Amino acid sequence: MQYQSTRDKTQKVSASQAILQGLSAEGGLFVPEQLPKLSEPMLECMIGQDYIQRAQTILEGFLTDFSPEEIESCLKGAYHVQKFSGPQIAPLARLGENAYLLELWHGPTCAFKDMALQLLPRLMTVAAQKSGDGKEIVILVATSGDTGKAALEGFCDVPGIRIVVFYPEEGVSLLQKLQMATQEGENVFVAAIHGNFDDAQSGVKKLFCDPQTIQMLQKQNRVFSSANSINWGRLLPQIVYYVSAYCDLVRDEQIALGDPINVCVPTGNFGNILAAYYAKQMGLPIRKLICASNKNNVLTDFIQTGVYDRNRPFYATTSPSMDILISSNLERLLFHLMDEDDAAVRDLMEGLKTNGRYTVSQQVLNRLQADFDGGYCDEAETAATIKRLFDTYSYLCDTHTAVAVSVYESYLSRTGDDTKTVIASTANPFKFPHAVLSALGAEAQDADEFEVARKLEELSGNEMPEQLAGLREKPVRFTESFAKDRMNDALAKALQNV
Ligand SMILES: *Cc1c(COP(=O)(O)O)cnc(C)c1O
Repeated sequence: MQYQSTRDKTQKVSASQAILQGLSAEGGLFVPEQLPKLSEPMLECMIGQDYIQRAQTILEGFLTDFSPEEIESCLKGAYHVQKFSGPQIAPLARLGENAYLLELWHGPTCAFKDMALQLLPRLMTVAAQKSGDGKEIVILVATSGDTGKAALEGFCDVPGIRIVVFYPEEGVSLLQKLQMATQEGENVFVAAIHGNFDDAQSGVKKLFCDPQTIQMLQKQNRVFSSANSINWGRLLPQIVYYVSAYCDLVRDEQIALGDPINVCVPTGNFGNILAAYYAKQMGLPIRKLICASNKNNVLTDFIQTGVYDRNRPFYATTSPSMDILISSNLERLLFHLMDEDDAAVRDLMEGLKTNGRYTVSQQVLNRLQADFDGGYCDEAETAATIKRLFDTYSYLCDTHTAVAVSVYESYLSRTGDDTKTVIASTANPFKFPHAVLSALGAEAQDADEFEVARKLEELSGNEMPEQLAGLREKPVRFTESFAKDRMNDALAKALQNV
């Protein structure tokens, strides 16, 4: 199977090239030319299987230039019981009559990014062996928190790859900073930047295109690649858990094979919910995809009106991984909804770049609304939902998950659609101890996040995961910070002494 660019369909590459390149040369995103089908007999067969076996079936359909043995070895390394807190990988927790939380945070960094970033480095290594030019891959990441740590953990000590992570010095929580600064591994480097996330992000983009930097890399027999969520290798692993959740529901006799479900996803860059859309297009019985946003509700407006407009205030919320006004992966959905019209996609993206907005046709809007519903939830409602879930079900959820639960509940009362619904739960609550503790009505002003977490343990009866609690004792390895226009110094430092 070939992959084509959303902005120029004549650009076609293999699966391994799509994963290695990340982005097409003209700026488009790679999408599969056709989708493998998931038939009912295939689903029936998967019901008795474990997560890795289910993933094997799905990945084989997409990674046609990988051998089944290569895929199996990647999967077994990524979803190892020593990395995830149990063999279930992505378990479901029941929430009342019709809803289930799909817990995607049992991996090494306690956020759903692990689901993809444990697998991507392994896929990349195999892909690099296929291209066979022997170059070392240098991954650059700009992070506002969760992605950086999950990428460091995924790429740590992977042969043939180095990783450099840039984070805004004042823009991440103490826990997130410690997670990154204590990272082990011989091939990792972490740099704080004096600036905000956008500075780090544009600095990385500059390095990617800087002729001098590229020349330096060439001399060293190295090449850049990217691990951010527009890489097809990050979307693909996310399709698996929606299929797996459906199989679990059938296995546990919550639904019958063939019954439709709804899926509700707390959304930022539109990657996670797009994976659910692909699962639906492949044949998984999904009725509605419910797109949940926080106060940065650009997607809610888009789904309701067909106008995407990023010219609006930006809010820093308690669900920071959803504080995004440009949802990059939406481009892939537009490509599919517009009958793969690459020129039209190019026009919309040009409009977004120059005017910060675009409008889709009535026909595209109708198609969008046939598959998607959207809603958003403000800060007070996010906190109230955390408290309500804890009081009603003794279930402690994080802020991102709370946004999704709240949007699902409004959807249910607005539409009366009581189809069984899988709600993506994207982070462990102990990653955001201040916001969660104060949502429960307790004093959360202590500066020390470990102290706040201890209070949260006491109040909730839940335990802080060892990966987070253990950070307190881990030696800090990376303390350097760089001016935002000196990120090349950080890179040079990361690449020396090899
Ligand atoms: C990244 C992230 C999201 C948003 O996912 P997208 O794929 O960007 O839509 C939601 N919740 C958490 C905790 C995240 O880390």
